[in-house]
Amino acid sequence: MGRLDGKVALVSGGARGQGAEEALLMAKEGAKVVFGDILDAEGKQVEAEITEAGHEGTFVHLDVTRESEWQSAVETAIGKYGGLNILVNNAGILIRKGIEETTEEEWDRIMAINVKGVFLGTKHAIPAMRNSGGGSIINISSTAGIVGSREGSPSYTATKGAVRLFTKSTAIQHAKDGIRCNSVHPGPIDTEMIRDTTTDPDKWAARMRRLPMGRVGTAADIAYGVLYLASDEASFVTGTELVIDGGTTAE
Ligand code: NAD
Repeated sequence: MGRLDGKVALVSGGARGQGAEEALLMAKEGAKVVFGDILDAEGKQVEAEITEAGHEGTFVHLDVTRESEWQSAVETAIGKYGGLNILVNNAGILIRKGIEETTEEEWDRIMAINVKGVFLGTKHAIPAMRNSGGGSIINISSTAGIVGSREGSPSYTATKGAVRLFTKSTAIQHAKDGIRCNSVHPGPIDTEMIRDTTTDPDKWAARMRRLPMGRVGTAADIAYGVLYLASDEASFVTGTELVIDGGTTAE
């Protein structure tokens, strides 16, 4: 028996990294998974991996900044799999620049993907979840949504802080609909997003000094947290922050 048997999930940014791992794990645990991204070729590969393993998964093209593409992703979940119970707002970008170097266009772009994308996904998931008898929304924030960073990206921290509190309002306002909403706060995770750090010896040495466990996390470290929040095991958990960071924000 899978931990998500009978549930339908939608994941944004699911073509690679954490989103792909979450789509694969949720499908393995019995969910029917629709996942979207702007990277169509990579997304189709993940779809093949899911179906070849005997699970149910469908890739859709989804730019999270476009409302109409969210509408059709939700329609795919309903049309193909009969409803929607889980949304993982995972898509995101990082622009690693200080305030004075960040252009207005870069600010608008990171806000559009990391914040508006979460709003649009949530907006269109809510009615579908209500019609499906409730659901679980999981928003991928970051440790950068909890604490400021010394040399990181202020625009990124602004977006992840916004996601943290949007999550709490969603949780409170939709608890009566049977919809839970929680944020996940990964520390550094070994994906494309921080490849510049993990492949540069100097940046890596600096990063390691700030990691109590002496390692960065894996996509699976996050996917298991998402799986818990998506499942009925977390039926009394809403509006909370699940920090998965190897102790990075403990000091
Ligand atoms: P990643 O870069 O491998 O994955 C991000 C995915 O989002 C990619 O597949 C990308 O194509 C997709 N994406 C970007 N713009 C999009 C758009 N407009 N529409 C749809 N999809 C889009 O990095 P990741 O580590 O897997 O990131 C997943 C999430 O985790 C992000 O929200 C990120 O901010 C967050 N996060 C990452 C780390 C880390 O260290 N890697 C730490 C904390 C939080």
